[in-house]
Amino acid sequence: MSTPTIGVLALQGDVREHLDALRRLDVDAIGVRRVEELDRCHGLVIPGGESTTMVKLARVFDVFDAVRGRIAAGLPTFGTCAGMIMLADRLRDGAVGQETFGGLDVTVRRNAFGRQVDSFEAELDFTLFDDPVHAVFIRAPWIEQVGPSVDVLASVPIDGEGPGRQEMQGTADRIVAVQQGSVLATSFHPEVDDDLRLHRHFVDIVTS
Ligand code: GLN
Repeated sequence: MSTPTIGVLALQGDVREHLDALRRLDVDAIGVRRVEELDRCHGLVIPGGESTTMVKLARVFDVFDAVRGRIAAGLPTFGTCAGMIMLADRLRDGAVGQETFGGLDVTVRRNAFGRQVDSFEAELDFTLFDDPVHAVFIRAPWIEQVGPSVDVLASVPIDGEGPGRQEMQGTADRIVAVQQGSVLATSFHPEVDDDLRLHRHFVDIVTS
């Protein structure tokens, strides 16, 4: 493939940051709001933002079913934070009846880290890279369960009080980055940092 076209779902959230990161990797990066734009894409990024709003707007713009269908058909997709929620096959602490595109065989808990630690930063060891990744978490979800074809790429140790900790005893690791075939997802926001390694990894998935 010469220059891949990678779309960023441009309904809501940090679209511009993802477009900038992809353009720095010499990708033809486009905002996607319509099915015709989606159909030009070799890969799709679903940004961070607010998943409940994203669902509503995907319905308003009439792209929800098309996005769901393209992901199910194998379109390489990278979801960050709210984007990871949108990719989850199973969702906990979603809004009543909250839909997702699905495509990732995981159970995601929304707003999992709790009010006290709404936003935080961490240095994460990644299976993919030699050096840790600086990760910015903003009202982030975590992954509570993964299916057999999902690779765990990074976890974060947590403790303390908050939702999703009922079954926890002491400290535990929570999964914050996964890959299942050509679907990649992180709880945090790689697009807000200068580090392009995760975007480059996604471009490699798209072009391989
Ligand atoms: N809490 C948001 C949601 O439920 C996700 C936050 C984010 O993307 N930074 O969609």
